[in-house]
Amino acid sequence: MEKLYDQYDRVHDYVRLSITDRCNLRCVYCMPKEGLPFFPTDKVLSQDEIVQMIENFAEMGISKVRITGGEPLLRTDVVDIVRRIKAVKGIEDVSITTNGLFLAKKG
Ligand code: SF4
Repeated sequence: MEKLYDQYDRVHDYVRLSITDRCNLRCVYCMPKEGLPFFPTDKVLSQDEIVQMIENFAEMGISKVRITGGEPLLRTDVVDIVRRIKAVKGIEDVSITTNGLFLAKKG
């Protein structure tokens, strides 16, 4: 299997992937009071594009994926995204960074 090296010859097996720039909170250290111009929905990676990208990374030796946002649970297809990434050959660990407010609804 190929490995992903950086310019200092370090091997990388981990990626963080933002699946949305939107969030349901406005933490002062993250979002300005006046808000941000979020990407139009059609400019955000689709579920198929995300999976394709992770398949490409897996072929380069990536085995761990952390899903982030914004708040990733705002995406209605987040469960399917996680399920499909977990099924990618070579991916051993999938985790998610979330503020947790929608976790109960996703159970
Ligand atoms: S992305 Fe995280 S830090 Fe930023 S506003 Fe949302 S909950 Fe707060």
